[in-house]
Amino acid sequence: MRLLTFSAVLCALSVSLFSDEHDTPFTLADLPYPAEALEPVIDQKTMEIHHGRHHQAYVNNLNAAVEDHPSLAEMSLKDIQRHISQFDTAVRNNGGGHYNHTLFWTLMAPVGAGGSPSPALLAQIEEDFGSLEAMQQAFQQAGASQFGSGWAWLIWNGEQLQVTATANQDNPLMDVIPEDEQGYPLLANDVWEHAYYLSYQNQRGAYLEAWWQVVNWEVVNQRFAAITDATAASDED
Ligand code: MN
Repeated sequence: MRLLTFSAVLCALSVSLFSDEHDTPFTLADLPYPAEALEPVIDQKTMEIHHGRHHQAYVNNLNAAVEDHPSLAEMSLKDIQRHISQFDTAVRNNGGGHYNHTLFWTLMAPVGAGGSPSPALLAQIEEDFGSLEAMQQAFQQAGASQFGSGWAWLIWNGEQLQVTATANQDNPLMDVIPEDEQGYPLLANDVWEHAYYLSYQNQRGAYLEAWWQVVNWEVVNQRFAAITDATAASDED
């Protein structure tokens, strides 16, 4: 009996270690702020449903897909995106949904708390778009003109910043995206109706414009610094 208990503990321990290392089974992290923290730009109810039901469903469905695709258990969430062509639509939709939303929550902060673009990021934005306002207009346009559901992105393509849009839960890391639209996501906005419909109804453009108030530039700055450092390092190789 004691032995059995001990082996059960060992088993639970190894499962728990495995989870930490491989993020499997995939889990839904708490929001990094209370659900009401982004009001009035994004209302509490929208955040609760979006995180607790929509994102949770992507996580549950991705975990279900691991049974058919055991190799997912050995891959990081980011690597799954980069090799998404090897998997079926369920993995593409739910693996993409989990990656996109996990990123999305970190890219927002309460109104007034998100800071502003770093000097390095601002200089790159001005070089590639002319001004911050021009980049924001391009980003809003990408989100507004994405037919149906999808995402708007600001990416680093290894040489410059670029604004793109993807359908459904696709993202710029995926190897099924056209090569000239692939890159490392710095900023992402969810333009599925579930992201804004309670407050904005069919006014996607109003949501896209208001959303800048809750962008967490500190996180965007860190992502830009990390990826351009990595790019510079690999250039030296
Ligand atoms: Mn969503």
